[in-house]
Amino acid sequence: MKQLRYDLILIALLLLLSAAAWLLLRPRGEGAVAVVTVDGAEAGRYPLSEDRTVWIESPGGYNLLTIAGGAAAVTEADCGDHTCVRTGEIRLDGQSIICLPHKVVITVEGGEADGVDLSAH
Ligand SMILES: [Zn+2]
Repeated sequence: MKQLRYDLILIALLLLLSAAAWLLLRPRGEGAVAVVTVDGAEAGRYPLSEDRTVWIESPGGYNLLTIAGGAAAVTEADCGDHTCVRTGEIRLDGQSIICLPHKVVITVEGGEADGVDLSAH
């Protein structure tokens, strides 16, 4: 009887731990993705939760999209104005990086509209 009660406590603890882990492991919008369009056509969508670099080819040249730490940024491009590179990181729903010379648009969809982050922009 006593043994059974310990088992129940253990199970309850494990459930609590996994719930806590689940909450901790899904920071800022699990569903946030960077949507890449080239000349109006969707070229790909990449979750912000996975660090990666994406080479974007367009008729005008290239943009290097870097996703790290839950944010997306164009870190390299051979366009003339480099506005896309200077835009910096985007991570919130609706934010976008636009490279006019290459007709490349990168938009965040589904990210959490975090009030604290919003005020910083
Ligand atoms: Zn550019």
